[in-house]
Amino acid sequence: MTKALRELGQFIGGSFLPPHSGASFPDLDPATGREIARVPQGGAEDVEAAVTAAEAAAPGWAAKAPAERARLLDAVADRIEARLDELAELESHDTGKPLSLAKAIDIPRAAANFRFFAGAVRHDETACHTTPGVINYTLRRPLGVVGLITPWNLPLYLLTWKTAPALAMGNTVIAKPSELTPLTAHALAEILREVGVPAGVFNLVQGYGAEVGQALVEHPRVKAISFTGGTVTGARVAATAAPQFKKLSLELGGKNPTLVFADCDLEQTLDGVVRAGFTNQGQVCLCGSRILIEESIYPEFRDGLVARVGGMKVGPPQAVDTQLGALISQGHREKVEGYLALAQEEGGTILTGGARPTLPPPYDAGAFLQPTVIDGLGHECRAVQEEIFGPVVTLHPFKDEEQALALANGVQFGLSASVWTRDLARAHRVSAALETGMVWVNTWLLRDLRVPFGGIKDSGVGREGGRYSLEFFSEARNVCIKL
Ligand code: NAD
Repeated sequence: MTKALRELGQFIGGSFLPPHSGASFPDLDPATGREIARVPQGGAEDVEAAVTAAEAAAPGWAAKAPAERARLLDAVADRIEARLDELAELESHDTGKPLSLAKAIDIPRAAANFRFFAGAVRHDETACHTTPGVINYTLRRPLGVVGLITPWNLPLYLLTWKTAPALAMGNTVIAKPSELTPLTAHALAEILREVGVPAGVFNLVQGYGAEVGQALVEHPRVKAISFTGGTVTGARVAATAAPQFKKLSLELGGKNPTLVFADCDLEQTLDGVVRAGFTNQGQVCLCGSRILIEESIYPEFRDGLVARVGGMKVGPPQAVDTQLGALISQGHREKVEGYLALAQEEGGTILTGGARPTLPPPYDAGAFLQPTVIDGLGHECRAVQEEIFGPVVTLHPFKDEEQALALANGVQFGLSASVWTRDLARAHRVSAALETGMVWVNTWLLRDLRVPFGGIKDSGVGREGGRYSLEFFSEARNVCIKL
């Protein structure tokens, strides 16, 4: 780990500063339990200072030509790419995720987010509506100071997914990353300063959600909150923000179904379903944790899945052959293990996994868990209804398409689904009937940054991506001129 990063600061008005409280707390590497940095314990005073800095910077940033903002965003992407190896190391140590995953997905995607929104704002268009003697046109104005609150599972990937469009549209930002994963947010602040983003345009306040996050959502001069995290926290954010009529985007939890029909390509489906279930130790909001399998292929599919999952390599995140690293924390592993115990009480059988792997020091102190497959659970069981957010999937047979849809839609969440079939008509029919914001057919987490991203039901409100993000981070104003 880079020594300079061990004492992190708040980034306010272009400078790294200690928190007002003077206090800090440890940032632990979940794979070893070792302390790797001190996190500033921010609070309402830091948020106040960040709002003041962001407000002061807002008029100048909003007045820049979109092309100039886009040039700076491209420069950020270049710097992220130049520091790819170092940023991937930081992300892997901070989260416990395989270094190979951080190198292949997290960090390249962070660069892509900046490049994508630089392009999007360069090519942005607004509407013009004419009728004889009258012309209406739409102006898009920045909101002002916006708050971005992000979780620990994809730290830089998700922070940049919000920061890039917010800055592209001329807003100034206060970012609040998860208290569990502060490192790459700190590095992002360094990068924005290096490339010449003016002081106060991007501010970073580190600390706990109940202190920094709450103060940010409550702050009357923060005009919008873009939040990604758990459903319970999201409800609290919504309750706090609503009376102030703040603009709100909520990307929340999931309990996503994977629908496997008998006519699927079995080998391709098994590979895809394993990827959907266990990427990032099952800690992706989009992970397919409820696997619904057509009865006629249930035994064959179950056995193929168990063989594949049982053969997955859990180990040191920085080892090249590791497929699953550590969970985010000891506390989170205990929560996941609690669900394993509950699933067994509810009548489920663990077909593979379910235990802590034996690893050599220092990894014996890490929050590792074997990837786990459970069957025999009724759909009403809590282990099937609630988000576990770990390397755990449950298997459920279905008779026909109607029953598959009833099971798929039979939860409070509605984030994503994947459908595995060679029948094109069925793919269209099922995709239209699923109660989720996103459906993948014969694939999973194949992303195009232009498409709407988000959930329904308890999985959130609003969409991110492409023009959806540009619209969220701006206010449309109609100008009507009588000629
Ligand atoms: P979390 O809700 O505990 O925390 C998310 C963020 O909110 C953190 O930065 C936290 O400090 C902050 N926070 C906590 N209390 C707050 C408060 N009162 N006011 C404002 N902010 C507060 O979530 P987590 O455990 O970090 O992340 C895991 C969850 O995120 C899972 O439920 C997962 O499904 C969800 N998630 C959703 C998406 C999506 O796009 N829908 C993507 C990734 C993760």
